[in-house]
Amino acid sequence: MTTLAHTPPIHAAMDQFAVAGDQLLVGGIPLCRLAEQVGQTPFYAYDRGLLRSRVAELRAALPGNVELHYAMKANPMPAVVDFMAGLVDGIDVASGGELKTALDAGANPQKISFAGPGKRQAELRQAVAAGVLINVESFREVDILDGISRELQLPARVAVRVNPDFELKGSGMKMGGGPKQFGVDAEQVPELLGLIDDRKLSFEGFHLFAGSQNLKAESICEAQQKSFELALNLSRHAPSPVRFLNLGGGFGIPYFPGERRLDLSPIGDNLRQLAARAGQVFPHAALVIELGRYLVGEAGLYVARIVDRKVSRGQTFLVVDGGLNHHLSASGNFGQVIRKNYPLAIGNRMHSDNTETASVVGPLCTPLDILAERMNLAVAAPGDLAVVFQSGAYGASASPQRFLGHPEVVEVLV
Ligand SMILES: *Cc1c(COP(=O)(O)O)cnc(C)c1O
Repeated sequence: MTTLAHTPPIHAAMDQFAVAGDQLLVGGIPLCRLAEQVGQTPFYAYDRGLLRSRVAELRAALPGNVELHYAMKANPMPAVVDFMAGLVDGIDVASGGELKTALDAGANPQKISFAGPGKRQAELRQAVAAGVLINVESFREVDILDGISRELQLPARVAVRVNPDFELKGSGMKMGGGPKQFGVDAEQVPELLGLIDDRKLSFEGFHLFAGSQNLKAESICEAQQKSFELALNLSRHAPSPVRFLNLGGGFGIPYFPGERRLDLSPIGDNLRQLAARAGQVFPHAALVIELGRYLVGEAGLYVARIVDRKVSRGQTFLVVDGGLNHHLSASGNFGQVIRKNYPLAIGNRMHSDNTETASVVGPLCTPLDILAERMNLAVAAPGDLAVVFQSGAYGASASPQRFLGHPEVVEVLV
């Protein structure tokens, strides 16, 4: 019997972007020309067509009565939030600053929800005045909202963010289950609901968010089912019928070798069953899922220009004009345990047969500033453009831009 040779895992094909000649196209524009149009490197470019098609793909897979919200912390660029606000059913914000951006984008306040631990008094006041739904995460928030509601003579609209008694299996980042700073433990929720009733806040429903970056459809389905059951149990203690049930999201995208794109069809089937049950047990409720990364992550690129090419003891280093200061997550320093490469290519040499093993590093004086470690890439020279794919989420706004005093990154929506 022969054994198959071990083949190393490879990145999922980054075929969402077209290629013309040797150049990657962003919104139909060849990369080198786009760099001229932007006027500087490094930059992030987000492709409107890809954002639109991703939402359309989700709408096709999910039941029509499930609302799709955009969690804007994934990409808070105002032009992106504007564009997304026109495509989705609601925007989820996690600070007073994000709330301002969402309102500026023209999002319907009725369909904005505000989550996050440690909401400050001033942020809660903004949220009540704006008339958005506040996902309360502590007893303290209910007390503060009571005071604000009286003062402004506007009952705060609240949902309870529940810290569930289960975890999202296989999730890149767990945000529920066990002891967590997020939400209120399921076992304390009945008491919190009593307080909301007592203070006459406007109760609308529940918010459950178990985790992020999950590529296993069955784990996502399981979390959604458990969230639904938990909400149903807790709703027995609610002061009024549930009108809003946010089952979270956590849909992941493939970043690393061996990862595959999420299969939406089992998730669509599962949500169809839950939506049918909701029709009976929560007849007044909107079912909501909230997605950040999945909506925007694959539509974005980080583009940096090669400044220098060095060979050190046999290894080739391409030094580019930006790195972890703009793209912390691609450098591996945003929650990765073992550093792995994001998909990366030389964006103006897409069809080159002349390849080599090279590392792509940023200009910062720290060995952590790596964008690609020993990848197979087209042979590149100073002036060429290195492109990091899967960069539409948790990029610029999640990076320490001032570290080492290099210029800030520019973002464009194409
Ligand atoms: C971060 C976050 C999201 C978005 O997570 P993604 O992995 O980007 O989809 C959604 N909801 C809440 C409450 C979050 O904190």
